[in-house]
Amino acid sequence: MRFADAHSDFGILRSMVQEGTVSKQIENDFVRDLEIAEVGMSVVQVGGDFNHDTYDFRERDIVLQTMNLFQPENIKQHPYLEVAVSKKDIDDITNRGKSAVILSIEGSTVIDTKFETLDFLYEQGLRNLAITHDYQNQYGCGCRVEVDTGLTPDGERLVEYTAKKGMILDLVHVGEKTFWGAIEYASQPVFVSHSNSKRVFDEVRNITDQQIQAIGERKGVVAVNFISEFLDPQKGVAPLDRLVDHIDYIVELTSIENVALGPDFFQYLMPELDYVGDVIGPADLVRVPPALETRGYSEREVSKICYENLVKFISTSLR
Ligand SMILES: [Zn+2]
Repeated sequence: MRFADAHSDFGILRSMVQEGTVSKQIENDFVRDLEIAEVGMSVVQVGGDFNHDTYDFRERDIVLQTMNLFQPENIKQHPYLEVAVSKKDIDDITNRGKSAVILSIEGSTVIDTKFETLDFLYEQGLRNLAITHDYQNQYGCGCRVEVDTGLTPDGERLVEYTAKKGMILDLVHVGEKTFWGAIEYASQPVFVSHSNSKRVFDEVRNITDQQIQAIGERKGVVAVNFISEFLDPQKGVAPLDRLVDHIDYIVELTSIENVALGPDFFQYLMPELDYVGDVIGPADLVRVPPALETRGYSEREVSKICYENLVKFISTSLR
């Protein structure tokens, strides 16, 4: 069984290894696990709005440096990974049994409103963009702001500009009003790379039935997050069954084609984090298919959820 990961923090891991705050061994082990688990695609974020809510050059430099770590001369030390910028790249890379990396940014604070940074990042291979992280920036509001004032006029331009460039829009982390603003202006495919159902578990990072349905109607995918605190009200490690509850519910609201996995693995950076079923890294993904099969999903359906849906969505979204 192959897997596809809609949201990987591998870019941050590489950047921390580069800085010397994380050992190279952790990075190498992570890539080895990707290969063992046959993770054939990852959407890898190279930075975002984690600390700031205004335009900040320092953060921009971090994003540019991390992006540089994924240029061909720098990523070739991991022969299993190759950056993909088009459908053809994805087909070529996955047909050779390797893993296609789609470069992504998690929050657009670093993108100046003339979009010069965006143009540069696009040239460097960036193909997926999230408008905000949890808080506010010049383009819109995240899900943790007190009052979501919606997509700003610059945010409307940003959404239209990314569509013009042939980029994917990731509506993860945004507040609800900003979400609907983006839906209104987005002519390109949209998805949510690592969130769960608010109906199954009422948590600020999760999304409503209407949001899930809107993604489904636009042929997008909702990729479920594996961090326990987003899945289940109980403290500690949630049972794998809870993940399947969220998947079941998203399938019920949309279809078997509109759900995927966005595990958000970064326990290597925050060891105190609990993950559903103790699935803490790529090598543990093998435990997900049996949990789905127990709930009645066929082998083909499991493959759609774990791999095919995301690959199809990304492939058809890119030019
Ligand atoms: Zn996130």
